[in-house]
Amino acid sequence: MATAVLALQGAFVEHKRKLDQLGEPWFEIREKGDLDRDFDRLVLPGGESTTQGRLLRQEGLLEPLRQRIAAGLPVLATCAGLILLAARIQDQVEDGVARTEVRPERHLGTLDVTVVRNAYGRQLGSFRTQAELRGVGQVGMTFIRAPYISEVGPRARTLATVEGRVVAVRQGVQLALSFHPELEDDLRIHQLFCRL
Ligand code: GLN
Repeated sequence: MATAVLALQGAFVEHKRKLDQLGEPWFEIREKGDLDRDFDRLVLPGGESTTQGRLLRQEGLLEPLRQRIAAGLPVLATCAGLILLAARIQDQVEDGVARTEVRPERHLGTLDVTVVRNAYGRQLGSFRTQAELRGVGQVGMTFIRAPYISEVGPRARTLATVEGRVVAVRQGVQLALSFHPELEDDLRIHQLFCRL
C-alpha cells in the first residue's frame, strides 16, 4: 500500500521527500484516474486552498476523496490542506474582522473545526517558533500565511496551541496542522502520520 500525495498545487514535493526518508511508498494524485490506484493514506499539502479547492472540483476529485476520508482514510493536512478539511471557514478581512463562510460544497469539510484563513495578516505572514505537539514533543513550526483554528468542535481534539491559538488538531485519523512540518529537519510528525 502507498501514501497518496495530492499534487494539484503547492508544497507537495517536500512531503514526498519526507516519505522517501521514511521508506514509505507514495504516488501523486492529479486526476481522477489516479484514484484507481491503491492507497491507504493521504497527504493534503500547503499552498493556496482556493486554487486547490477549485482544481479538486474541476478534476472530479472532491467527492470521491471526501467519501474516502469520511470512511476512515488517514490524512495529514498542512496549512491549505487544513483549510480544505475544515467544516467551517472564515476569511480574515483587512479590518481584522473575520466573517464566517460555511461552504462545505467547495471543500472536503470532514474536520469538525472552524479555521480562519490568512489569520496572521500580511506583515506577520511568515514566522517560525517551537511548541509542544501532544504525543510528539517540542517541534519546530513554520507558519506561512497560515490559518489558525478558531473553534474545535466536539469531534476533534487540540494537539497544539501557539500564543493561545489552536494550530494542530486530530479527529480520529485526520491530523491537521496550520504549520509546515515538511519544512523541518524532523521526521516525527510524518512518522506519527504513517502509524495512524
Ligand atoms: N493562505 C493560504 C490559503 O488560504 C494557506 C497558506 C499555506 O498553505 N502556506 O490557502
